[in-house]
Amino acid sequence: MIGLDVDIFFLLYLGSGFALLFGLWFYYDWKDQHLFAAQRSKVIYHCIKCSQIYTGVHGSEECDCPQCGFTNGRLRF
Ligand SMILES: [Zn+2]
Repeated sequence: MIGLDVDIFFLLYLGSGFALLFGLWFYYDWKDQHLFAAQRSKVIYHCIKCSQIYTGVHGSEECDCPQCGFTNGRLRF
């Protein structure tokens, strides 16, 4: 049987705890970045026909106004 020293045991115990915490941190950071980034970032449009301000999907250059149906280009700042 392999005997474990107390120092080695605590080192492995703390190391496994830190590895678990950092693993969860990287997992949720990756999940947030890849799955929810597209939902959060939207493009703002201003309708030049009816002055409606609305949002479109991420990366789009043109979008139809939900109120009048006129196709507008994205706002650039
Ligand atoms: Zn409109």
